[in-house]
Amino acid sequence: MKLTNAKLDRNAPCWCGSGRKYKQCHMAFDEKIRMAELKGHEVPPRRLIKSPADIEGIRESAKINIAVLDLVAEKISIGMSTEEINRIVHEKTLSMGGIPAPLNYEGFPKSVCTSLNEEVCHGIPDDSIILKDGDIINVDVSTIYKGYFSDSSRMFCMGNVSPEKKRLVEVARECMEEGIKNVIPWHFLGDMGAAVHAHALKNGYTVVRQIGGHGCGKEFHEDPWVGYTTSPGTGMLMVPGMVFTIEPMVNMGGDAIYEDEDNGWTIRTEDGKPSAQWEVQVLVTETGCEVLTW
Ligand SMILES: [Zn+2]
Repeated sequence: MKLTNAKLDRNAPCWCGSGRKYKQCHMAFDEKIRMAELKGHEVPPRRLIKSPADIEGIRESAKINIAVLDLVAEKISIGMSTEEINRIVHEKTLSMGGIPAPLNYEGFPKSVCTSLNEEVCHGIPDDSIILKDGDIINVDVSTIYKGYFSDSSRMFCMGNVSPEKKRLVEVARECMEEGIKNVIPWHFLGDMGAAVHAHALKNGYTVVRQIGGHGCGKEFHEDPWVGYTTSPGTGMLMVPGMVFTIEPMVNMGGDAIYEDEDNGWTIRTEDGKPSAQWEVQVLVTETGCEVLTW
């Protein structure tokens, strides 16, 4: 048994960077973490607990991410190419002093992901892809600002979208909201994911299993991996100071997906039926969570 935390001076400044004394800051927190660990639960390492300065930095980054998506919401229209969305995102991000996180990320060629209809995620903007009446599209924006990362996505319905697709988009949003409601400190990520999954299943939909959310803030993709087809009581403990995304990919048909072999990025549903996704980035608080980016 390690007793390193107990040996930390109670009156020394807390490891979290708050400037407060350890005994008045994270001492009780560390004890709770240690007890959970002794019970065999997965607990977050300290590097995943954001300091007040980190949270401030993520908030600043988030302001850009939200403004970019607000601008996309204003401009997006039938007849526009997804490359035009890319230009809007790229220019708006730069104009606010940010860097689009997707650009050159592991070779991704554009500043945003635009995923249409049966595309689940990682759609690549292109001049030849024109938004048509009846399309549904996910626009996934991620920003780096002064070293801090923000990440969120929204769905847009173009013109006369069929009632079936409209309902999918609405339920996908409800699934994300169900996730937000179920971020409860000292509960498990698996509890949250199970609640999201149950809501999708209740509506006759499935949730993609292989791709999930992620920690986000000091890096684009941090631990933990966040699934939405999980079992209650499993996964990492959600504790105050963690920041991660809630972004279930909800399919109208089956949950099977495949990757585009030609571009190596775009994920589509195996059965060709539509998929929808909304993404927020949340901070776990003492009482629930705060949505930082939407
Ligand atoms: Zn502290």
